[in-house]
Amino acid sequence: MKPVHFLLTTAASTAALGAAGTVVAPSLADSKSGTLPISAPPALSADLIAAAETRPSTEKIWVKARQAVTLKHLASQLAQDETLISQLNDVKADHVFGRSEWMVLPSTAIKQVKTVAAVDTSELRRTPPLEAPPEPSETARIRRGDTTLAKVAQRYNLSIQKLLKLNPGLRGAQLVVGTPIRIAQANAGRSRMVLGLKPVGSGGLSWPDQPDFGFGDVENFNDRAWVWPTKGIFTSGYGWRWGRMHRGIDIANNIGTPIVAAKSGQVVSAGWHGGGYGYLVELRHADGTLTRYGHNSRILVRAGQVVRQGKVISLMGSTGRSTGPHLHFEIIPAGRGAVNPLQMLPPRA
Ligand SMILES: [Zn+2]
Repeated sequence: MKPVHFLLTTAASTAALGAAGTVVAPSLADSKSGTLPISAPPALSADLIAAAETRPSTEKIWVKARQAVTLKHLASQLAQDETLISQLNDVKADHVFGRSEWMVLPSTAIKQVKTVAAVDTSELRRTPPLEAPPEPSETARIRRGDTTLAKVAQRYNLSIQKLLKLNPGLRGAQLVVGTPIRIAQANAGRSRMVLGLKPVGSGGLSWPDQPDFGFGDVENFNDRAWVWPTKGIFTSGYGWRWGRMHRGIDIANNIGTPIVAAKSGQVVSAGWHGGGYGYLVELRHADGTLTRYGHNSRILVRAGQVVRQGKVISLMGSTGRSTGPHLHFEIIPAGRGAVNPLQMLPPRA
C-alpha cells in the first residue's frame, strides 16, 4: 500500500495543472469505503489487510458474470432480496453486471447460483478476489446460433457499429462457427503497473490548451488515447478492498488541483451526488464510454457541455465519502461494468 508517485513532465502539463506544491498524506478512504469504520486507523498495514481479506467468509461468495445480467434478474433467479444484492456489491438496484465482472452474493445462494445461466461458478470463491478482475479477452470466436451481426454484438455487449469498427468488413454471411472476431480494443504492449516512472518524452500525453468548444458534436473528438485526469499520489487501485469492490483508482493531491477530461466528451452530469461521490462530474465519450470524477471541491462544467480532452473540468476536493483530498476516477465502457483505468491510461514508462 506504499503510495507511488507519478509525474507528468511535459511543459504543457505544468502550465495546465500548476506546480505540484506540497502533497498531502494519501487518503485510503474514498467513496467506496463505506464499510470501513470511521475510527479505523488511517494506515492499516498491508499484512493486516491481506489477513482480513484472505479469511474465508461464511456469509458471502464471489462469482463472475458469464454474460451481462441485471441485478434485478439475478436477484429474482436466486430468490434473493434486490436490496441485499445491491448492498453487497455496492451498486444501485438497476446495475447491470458486465461480462466477467465479479459479483458478491450471500452464501445462502450457493446452490441456486449454479443453476443461473448468466453466472459462471467455475471460479467460485469464499474470499474476495485480490486481483482486479481480468479484462475480457480481445478476441472471441463465432458461436453456434450467432447467425446475425446483431446476435454477435449482443453476446459481447457491443453495438453493431462498434463490432464492425473492430472487425472491418465483417458481413453476416461470414458468421461461420469458429471464426475469430475481435471484441475489444487491442492493448498491445501495455504493462499493468508502470506508475512511478518518469515518462520518456511526452509518453503520448497531451494537454492541449484548446478553447472550450461549447455545445457541439462529441463524435468529432474521437481521441485515440486516454490522458491522466490529474496528477498526484496514486493511493488506491482498482479491485477488492476491505471486502468491497473499488471500481476506480484514487489519486491524491492538494485541494484545488485541476482535474481534466481524460478524453473529449460531453458532460452527462455535474453536481452533487448523494451516493458518496460528493461533487461528481460524469463525461460520455464518443464510443459511449462513461468516465466519472468524484470528490471534487469545485465543478467547472455544466451538463450538456462538450469538453475537449485535457480541459479542466473540476478542482480536486474531499467531498462525499472521503477522508482526504483525492480524485476517484472510473472508466465505464458502454454496456459493461467499470474496468481498471490503469489498463486504459497511458503507461508511465
Ligand atoms: Zn476511489
